[in-house]
Amino acid sequence: MGVLKGLKAIKAHQAEQEARREKSDRPKTTWFKLQGGTSAKVRFLQELDEESPHYSEKNGLALMVVEHRHPTRFMQKAVCTADEGGCWACEMNAANPREGWHQRTQLYANVLVDDGTNEPYVALFSRADGKNSIVGTIVEYAEENDSISNRWFKITRKGTGKEDTSYSIMGFDPKDDVNVEDYELFDLQNVLREVPYDKQEEHYNFVWENRDNKDSAPKEETTSINEKW
Ligand SMILES: [Zn+2]
Repeated sequence: MGVLKGLKAIKAHQAEQEARREKSDRPKTTWFKLQGGTSAKVRFLQELDEESPHYSEKNGLALMVVEHRHPTRFMQKAVCTADEGGCWACEMNAANPREGWHQRTQLYANVLVDDGTNEPYVALFSRADGKNSIVGTIVEYAEENDSISNRWFKITRKGTGKEDTSYSIMGFDPKDDVNVEDYELFDLQNVLREVPYDKQEEHYNFVWENRDNKDSAPKEETTSINEKW
């Protein structure tokens, strides 16, 4: 940005810089990832429902979020705003249903990861719901056992490529060896992209490579986004 003409432009620029600084001050998000042919134990640190006897008010709820993402640039995602009067990606999907603009329901939850090598650490679990997704099994656990945070789960990944990758999940018996409030969680609100309707087209079509500061591009999910969960 070059010359800022007038106070309004200066103020807007200052606000933008401030927002950028705040963003870069946030702790870097650690995403839960598995290499092909490996597995890890995870402990959900948040429940799916406040009614759960194991719900922690301090930790809050895991989130199920209806989102869209650009059909080829998967990092360009945003929360669906169809309920708020309009959603640009929903319109794109209605016009070209096969292009890949459809809604995706994505689960976001803080988990404690025990990979058998490192000290257990907190990471963000993010997976789309859908056919054969492990998210369906997690929701079933919440329904049938009133809790997902009261036991360890083993998640296994088979395959490495886009076509042959699959995941499975298995729940162990409940165990009270973890106090979910002992851990510092990532703020789920910070990983959601909430974009007002009139900015959505620009948001989805934004190409990070054109930006002067490449370091500010979001790096999350770059390796796992193609996979089927
Ligand atoms: Zn939408």
